[in-house]
Amino acid sequence: MKKRLLIANRGEIAIRIIRSAHKLGITSVVLQSDKEPDALYLKYANEIIQAKDANDEKPIFLNATKIVDFALAHQIDLVHPGYGFLSENPDFAALCEENGINFIGPSPELIRNMGIKTIAKKMAIETGLPLVPGSEGAVVDAQVAKAFADKIGYPVILKASAGGGGRGMRIVEKPDAMERLFKSAYDEAVNAFGNGDIFIEKYLQNPKHLEFQILGDKHGNIIHLGERECSLQRKHQKVVEEAPSASITPEMRNQMGEMAVKFAKAIGYFSVGTIEYILDEDGSFYFMEMNTRIQVEHPVTEMVTHVDLVDWQIKVALGEELTLQQSDIQLNGWAIECRINTEDPQNRFSPQTGFIEKIHFPRGKGIRIETGVQNGSVVTPYFDSMISKIIVRADSREEVIEKTLKALNEFNLVGLKSTAPFCRLVLQDPDFVSAQYTTRWVDQKYTPEMLENDEEELIGALAATIIYAKEYLQIASNSTVYDDESLNMWVLNKRIN
Ligand code: ADP
Ligand code: ADP
Ligand code: MG
Repeated sequence: MKKRLLIANRGEIAIRIIRSAHKLGITSVVLQSDKEPDALYLKYANEIIQAKDANDEKPIFLNATKIVDFALAHQIDLVHPGYGFLSENPDFAALCEENGINFIGPSPELIRNMGIKTIAKKMAIETGLPLVPGSEGAVVDAQVAKAFADKIGYPVILKASAGGGGRGMRIVEKPDAMERLFKSAYDEAVNAFGNGDIFIEKYLQNPKHLEFQILGDKHGNIIHLGERECSLQRKHQKVVEEAPSASITPEMRNQMGEMAVKFAKAIGYFSVGTIEYILDEDGSFYFMEMNTRIQVEHPVTEMVTHVDLVDWQIKVALGEELTLQQSDIQLNGWAIECRINTEDPQNRFSPQTGFIEKIHFPRGKGIRIETGVQNGSVVTPYFDSMISKIIVRADSREEVIEKTLKALNEFNLVGLKSTAPFCRLVLQDPDFVSAQYTTRWVDQKYTPEMLENDEEELIGALAATIIYAKEYLQIASNSTVYDDESLNMWVLNKRIN
C-alpha cells in the first residue's frame, strides 16, 4: 500500500514537499483553502481536500483540529507541516500522534522544549554551548529587566520566550525606554504566541547570523550539514542566505558543527533541525535557538552538500536509518538564496497584493527555482508575501555572486513589486562582496534612494523581454535556439552603451 502524506502548508514549500513525496512513491494530499482557491501547489498534488475555510477566522493551515479530522477522514499516514503555521506547534504534533498519524518532525516534547527559548538555553548550557550574556529565565517585569540591564550594560534586547519569525523582540538602548519597550514586547508576545514571558540578552552591535543544519534519525545517528549565513535580515527576518559562510574558518566550522551535534544528541533529537548561532565581531559565537522544522533557506545547504533534506526528513519519520555519516558530508562550491517577496523595497517593504501578470524565472546550470506562483497567479493578503526563491550554486563565492546577479537580471515580474531589485542591490554592495555584512546592514546602510534609477532593473526587464521573444520564436518556428552566451553579450553591450 502506498503511504499517504498530507501537507499542512501551502506555497512553494508545499510544492517542494510534493516533489519529495512523489520521488519516494508516496501519495501527496493537499488542502485547498478558500482564501487561495487557485494556488499553484494544487496542480501538483495527487489529491486535494477542500478545506471550506471561507468563514473560518483562521486559514485551514492554522486549524489543528480540522487538519487532523481531514487526515483521519482521508486515511492519511503522515503529515508534513512545512515551515511557519503549525510546524513548531507541539500540540499539533501531539494531536497527530494521538490519532495515529506520523508527524514529520521531532517529538512533541522536543518541539515544546525548543520552542521556549529559555528552556532551550538552559538545556544548551548543560552541553557546554556558549550563550549570550543574559537572564537565565524570563524576567517578571520592566523593573527587574532594568536592574538586569544595569548589570550587563546597554544596549540589551528583550525577547519573547515563545517567539519566532522575528517577532516579540525589542532593542533597548537606554534605561528610560525600558518600561515602554517591555510593555510592547510583552503585548506582542501575548498576541502572537499566547505567552508573555520575556527574557533579556545583551544586544550584540554588529553580529552575524550563522546556523547549522542538523539531520538525525530515530536510532540515535546525528550529523550536521555545515552552516548557512543568514546575516542579511530585515526586521530580524532573512532575505538573502548563503552556504557556506565566509565568516568562519574550517576549524570554527568543525567546532560549531560538533557542538551542535553534541547538543542535538544530548536532547535526543531526530529529524531535520537548525541550531542558530550569533557570531560577534571578535569571533566569539553563542547559541541563540533551535528550529525544529525544515527551514525556508534549506536549499542552499542542499546545493552544496547534494543531500536532499526533505527526502531524509520523510524517510527518518518513517523510521529509516541514516545511511550518511559525518565524513560523507563534503561542502562543494557555494550557494546563494534570494527570497522574492511581493513587497515594495522603495516603500518600506509594504506588501503587494494582486495579480501577477507575468513572472519569468532565470534558467541554467546551477540555478534552482522554488516558486508558489506562475503567470496569472493572485497574491492574496492572507498569507506570507514570500512567493519564490532563486537559488544559485557555483564553484566559488565570487562566481556565485556574479551568477546570482545575472539570474536576478533575468528574473522579471510584471504586475507587482518585489524584493528582487533589493537583492540585486545587496549582492553588489561592497559589504556583501567582501562578506563583511552584518545583521544591521539594512538598518545602517539601506535607503530606498539606492534603488532609484536602477539601470540593472531596466536591463533585466529588457533581457526578460528578449527571452520571451526567444521562447516565442522557438515555439513559433522551431528555429535554432539562440544560446545564452549571445544573450549575455547583448545584455553586456546594452550595459556598456
Ligand atoms: P526568531 O525565533 O524570531 O528567529 P532569534 O532568537 O532567532 O528569533 O533572533 C532573530 C534575529 O534577531 C537574529 O538572527 C539576530 O539578527 C537578532 N538577534 C537575536 N538576538 C540578538 C542579540 N542578543 N543581539 C543582537 N541581535 C540579536
Ligand atoms: P527561517 O528561519 O526558516 O528563515 P522564517 O521565520 O523566515 O524562518 O520562515 C517562516 C516564515 O515563513 C514565517 O514568517 C511564516 O509567516 C512564513 N510562511 C509560513 N508558511 C509559508 C508558506 N507556505 N509560504 C510562504 N511563507 C510562509
Ligand atoms: Mg531564529
